[in-house]
Amino acid sequence: MAKNKGVLIVISGPSGAGKGTICKALLEKHKDIHLSVSATTRNPRQGEVHGINYYFLNKDEFLKKVEEDDFLEWAEVYGNCYGTPKSNVQELLDSGKDVILEIDIQGALKVKENTEEGVFIFILPPSMEELKQRIINRGSETPESLMRRFNSAYQEINYISKYNYAVVNDTVENAVNKIENILAAEKCRVDRIQGTILNLEEGISHE
Ligand code: 5GP
Repeated sequence: MAKNKGVLIVISGPSGAGKGTICKALLEKHKDIHLSVSATTRNPRQGEVHGINYYFLNKDEFLKKVEEDDFLEWAEVYGNCYGTPKSNVQELLDSGKDVILEIDIQGALKVKENTEEGVFIFILPPSMEELKQRIINRGSETPESLMRRFNSAYQEINYISKYNYAVVNDTVENAVNKIENILAAEKCRVDRIQGTILNLEEGISHE
């Protein structure tokens, strides 16, 4: 029986907009959606686990992977390198699984250049004041990195026009609900249901 390909969901937005919290809530609700675990050269924060939150690599290990073309995309963000491992993502999509990439804007633009299949979602904060407060409340940033993240948030919002959808994170529940609706609509797109059409043509029930 032919399968429809999974949907590649690319989620980005400024630091503090709440991408991480939204992705976590979405994944808790939908065990069939897979989160791609990125590699990074930044130090682990309290409670972060290698292989779950990130693959924590040193700069040499990271650059070796760049040389070996192991990343679907990679970018330098706030002085550290981050990359999406290639292996897995394509396999998961081909087997019909939906995959989320929670990556920065430069990375999202690279994915957009390299593949035609992503659904690009930009997460917005309800206000810039709220965004600032969220970055401060996180408590894990030095004053310099806090300023850097806040300043780039202003610039990053200009890239919204490159995305397919914008979701305001007023509450996590609302934001998750909107992403669920986007995903449901995307799954009905004619170019995504080739497996279903093939099965119908061959007389196989889709259920
Ligand atoms: P953090 O250090 O707060 O975990 O992440 C900093 C930024 O890096 C966030 O905007 C996050 O989305 C982004 N990021 C995480 N993983 C990747 C990745 O694999 N590629 C790119 N381009 N950005 C990433």
